[in-house]
Amino acid sequence: MSDYALEARGLTKTFGGFHAVKDVNLKVRRGSIHALIGPNGAGKTTCFNLLTKTLTPTAGQVLLDGQDITKLRSAQVAKLGLVRSFQISATFPHLTCLENVRVALQSNNGTAFQFWRSLKAVEPLNQRARELLAQVGLAGREETPATELSYGKKRALEIATTLALDPKVMLLDEPTAGMGHEDVEPITDLIRKVSAGRTILIVEHNLSVVSSLCERITVLQHGEVLTEGTYAEVSTDPEVITAYMGG
Ligand code: ADP
Repeated sequence: MSDYALEARGLTKTFGGFHAVKDVNLKVRRGSIHALIGPNGAGKTTCFNLLTKTLTPTAGQVLLDGQDITKLRSAQVAKLGLVRSFQISATFPHLTCLENVRVALQSNNGTAFQFWRSLKAVEPLNQRARELLAQVGLAGREETPATELSYGKKRALEIATTLALDPKVMLLDEPTAGMGHEDVEPITDLIRKVSAGRTILIVEHNLSVVSSLCERITVLQHGEVLTEGTYAEVSTDPEVITAYMGG
């Protein structure tokens, strides 16, 4: 088995001749939290889209657990355990927390739209949904509509719906974006907790979150890898400092 849960080899995407991502090599060690950082326009979102097959690469390969998934579609990739959170896992605002997680569980087992299922059939799913809500700190909020949750708790609910898909590799797209200071620490702790037994690749602008969570960091600039290393290594790299200062 490969040491790397997720790998990109020579990943490239052009839009009408413009290289949004160019020859990116990325190795995410199994069981680690790895960050993808870089200034605006560096190619982070495009990379995420290529890794989850929302976009088709112009060149290069994506490997999940050593298996080439370049030719698979995004739904097939998700079935293999590579799941992206936040941008796509929006919750249903008028469903309760429990219903939101149950819908995610049902979408994972192929029964999402079987509303006629008996209570008996649904109860194990409700039980699992309660466990997932407890894991993300939402015990006692089962009957609360998602729309009534605070911003930070909504993000926790989104994590629960992602966990319902039983991901091996989670891609988190700016999990603390738009959050007040008081929500950043709980969500950072939650990411650390749910990382147990999983691999996480995270795009994150808050560098203190990156330094506290991530074993390794890949820095992108102009679509290319500028450097890769530990937080201590990349944060003292003069090229990285210049890139962030807009030089
Ligand atoms: P980041 O997420 O690091 O801010 P992006 O991946 O969104 O960067 O964008 C990288 C570059 O690719 C930017 O210059 C952006 O304008 C360009 N780009 C992204 N998507 C498209 C697209 N669909 N068509 C044309 N250019 C794009």
